[in-house]
Amino acid sequence: MVIDVAEVLGRLPEGLFIGGRWVGTERQFDVHDPSDDSVLCAVSDAGVVEAQAAMDAACEAAGPWAATEPRERAEILRRAYELVVKRQDTFATIMTLEMGKPLAESRGEALYGAEFLRWFSEEAVRIDGRWTVAPSGGTRLLVMRQPVGPVYAITPWNFPLAMGTRKIAPALAAGCTVIIKPASLSPLTTLFLMQVLQDAGVPAGVVNCLTTVRSAEVSEVVLGDPRLRKLTFTGSTEVGRLLLEQAAGSILRTSMELGGNAPFLVLQDADLDVAVPAAMAAKFRNNGEACTAANRLYVHRGLVDEFQERFTRNVEELRLGPGLADDTTLGPLVDRAALDKVVELVDDAVSKGARVLAGGRAEVRPGHYMQPTVLGDVPHNARLLHEEIFGPLAPIVAVESDEEAVRRANDTEFGLIAYVMTRDVTQAVRVAESLEVGMVALNTGIISNPAAPFGGVKQSGLGREGSHEGIEEYLETKYVGLSL
Ligand code: NAD
Repeated sequence: MVIDVAEVLGRLPEGLFIGGRWVGTERQFDVHDPSDDSVLCAVSDAGVVEAQAAMDAACEAAGPWAATEPRERAEILRRAYELVVKRQDTFATIMTLEMGKPLAESRGEALYGAEFLRWFSEEAVRIDGRWTVAPSGGTRLLVMRQPVGPVYAITPWNFPLAMGTRKIAPALAAGCTVIIKPASLSPLTTLFLMQVLQDAGVPAGVVNCLTTVRSAEVSEVVLGDPRLRKLTFTGSTEVGRLLLEQAAGSILRTSMELGGNAPFLVLQDADLDVAVPAAMAAKFRNNGEACTAANRLYVHRGLVDEFQERFTRNVEELRLGPGLADDTTLGPLVDRAALDKVVELVDDAVSKGARVLAGGRAEVRPGHYMQPTVLGDVPHNARLLHEEIFGPLAPIVAVESDEEAVRRANDTEFGLIAYVMTRDVTQAVRVAESLEVGMVALNTGIISNPAAPFGGVKQSGLGREGSHEGIEEYLETKYVGLSL
């Protein structure tokens, strides 16, 4: 399929989206295509003035939006869902252009991202409260749920659509207004989403978008405004920690979806027909640039040789290339820094005794291509077992027992997700209960779902996105006591 890139980019709106209008700025910054490092286009670079304007717009719209009938909010979100589905191909092309993943995966993300709009359109009309009688009788206890108020949403570059809809949809469903700041590496998808929301009938000021390379400066203005009520962030633990400190200033409600270091456990009685494809999906989906990506593969000693051999064979079949090419199954990494980090982690592990079973190098060509890489005999002091890799690099470690696998899995400050491969249901439950994570994937390599509560424990985050829990993050509880 030949895609007319210029025509697709021509569909993008220009400027920042503030108060229902597209506002140009004097300063702009370039967005690059990671497949060849060319410049795709330039977008507006928001500063202090625009941050202030977005805050004013979100605050002005907050009262009327909170008072909108839930059914109306639901129907607007439903229309937005339908529009994203209708424009799936454009969304997919834009995502692949700006962050590099294979087009088929971008098409998948377009639908996955759309599903948050549909799910929360359905939740908008199911916000309920309680009416109870106090244990001592007499007093009636009325518990009501109200929108938190204006929300600041900061999103990462790796899932440009879904990370936005996962925040915007529940916020709007709850009756909150939003300012979203996408990552400067992949801001185009969010701009196109703003167009969809406008077309779906979201009133002026209810959603605002600031694209910028001056994230700290812009965020300081928004976070420092006493009218802001909530910060929702997806990104690295390092930046999350910094933002939590700033949010403490005005005691903001916060939701934090942070970094991961997912262990992938192949237990003693695992079925390798299940475990190998699951490991491929958990490791290589999204070019390995996912917070849920399998970061460490702990395989029982009795299975490690066969697992390694079958997994490596699958890895060698991956087709590394530009995301828009038909036969590509693994795209380039997002930028030079991401590529350099993966190479550095390979070199560190090899210098400490790891064996390269596949790949191992960056490709010498324009763009940021890392060969899909498998390392065996990885020593426990290798950096890649302790840091988020964020690339197509799979370290395999043999363990002597299921207990050792769990112990090593928990030996990290992160706690987002763990993958567990086993045929034994009792063992599955036992291991799932003992893992210090927010999510466990049993005999599967993908568990993200709009109807499931996504999120981590420990330094992987606070709060949940998706499911019924997702809308709770945007609701305050108010109690009214009534004496009869
Ligand atoms: P990042 O932390 O570098 O950036 C995330 C966002 O924060 C971007 O929009 C960036 O511009 C902004 N930012 C950076 N510094 C800032 C500052 N000082 N003030 C305000 N905003 C600032 O993360 P990234 O590289 O974009 O994304 C990768 C990270 O995101 C990984 O650690 C990954 O695990 C994590 N992630 C987590 C989840 C999850 O659901 N837990 C999902 C996707 C990605």
